Order: sequence, then C-alpha cells, then structure tokens
Amino acid sequence: MLNLVLFGPPGAGKGTQAEKLKENYGLVHISTGDVFRALDPESELGKLAKSYSDKGNLVPDDVTIQILEQEVLKHPDAKGVIYDGFPRTTPQAEALDKFLEAKDSEVTLMLSLVVSEDELKTRLLERAKTSGRKDDADPNIIQNRIDTYKKSTAPVASYYKSQGKLREINGVGTISEITQRLFDAIKTN
Ligand code: AMP
Repeated sequence: MLNLVLFGPPGAGKGTQAEKLKENYGLVHISTGDVFRALDPESELGKLAKSYSDKGNLVPDDVTIQILEQEVLKHPDAKGVIYDGFPRTTPQAEALDKFLEAKDSEVTLMLSLVVSEDELKTRLLERAKTSGRKDDADPNIIQNRIDTYKKSTAPVASYYKSQGKLREINGVGTISEITQRLFDAIKTN
C-alpha cells in the first residue's frame, strides 16, 4: 500500500496536490478538514468540530482520530491513502502508526510542502474569495492557524524524520511544477 502523509501549513497547497496524487496513483484521498466540514452542522459532532475549526483551533485528538479511522475503514480495497491534514499532532501520528500496524501496513512517506508565512497568508486570503471558509477570511484566524501549526503540528515532521520518512518539497511554483516534485520524491523513494 502507498500511504502518503501530505503535510504542510494551511495554504501550502495540500488539497490541490492531493487531487493530483490521487489521479496519478489511484489512491483514496482523506482530508480531515473536509470530513469535519461535511458533518451536519446541527449534529453534536458537527457543532463540536465547528466550535474549534471556526476559530482556527485543532479539534481534540480523540475525536479526530476516531473520525479518521472511520473514514479509512470505508475503503477496505484502497491501493493506498493520501492523508491530507492528518496527523496534525504527535499523538495523532502515533495513533496512525498503531492503526496501520494492526492492518499490517505503515506510512510510506511524509511529503511536506514548504511555503513561507507571507505567501501562506496571501494564498489563504485569496482562497477566501471562493472557499466561503470563515477561517480563510479573517487575518486573526489565519494567524492562529499558522501559530497552531508551528506549535502543535510542525513537531510531527520530526516524528517521521526520525523514521527516515520525511521528504521536504518546495511548495512554491506552478501547480504542475510542484506536482512533479512530489512525483519525483515518490519515485526515488
Ligand atoms: P483544513 O481543511 O485542513 O485546513 O482544516 C480545517 C480545520 O479542521 C482545522 O483548522 C482544524 O480545526 C480542523 N482539523 C482538520 N484536520 C485536523 C486534525 N488532524 N486535527 C485537529 N483538527 C483538525
């Protein structure tokens, strides 16, 4: 199985590139952010997720891990999975390892998109014009998402680095240039 963790700060291009990887390798694409946004906003779980995501805070690990595992189990015949926006904390990374190990599988690679903070802010404000996402439109929420990334999420890269699985990819350029860099990293693995 090809299990790719597509990593990077908000606005790095994970969603866009996940679609390219999905097409090319025939993988299942799981974005925890998309799963949270698709929840019924009137349900208890939907309200809970929104209370965190609207402010740019992380949804608690126990809820997120459960949601992720349920989503993976929906695709028993997958050739592999692109994990987009998960894991975002070290406990989530540990839970994913355990979950995959029980299925005799493992994370193949972490592909980490590297983009400067100024560029991220510009991209998110641009995306807000069409995404309709509250968390893209407010500079204070964007800053909180970036700060949360630095504090809680960036350490996840070290977790995979220690396993020899981290590949850093320059996330600035045209969409197709970045896609090619990702393909090259997977090929040379
Ligand atoms: P995203 O679409 O990846 O930008 O995620 C949007 C929001 O969903 C985040 O700001 C978090 O509130 C929540 N979220 C998505 N993935 C996770 C995760 N792995 N852990 C915790 N919260 C998450």
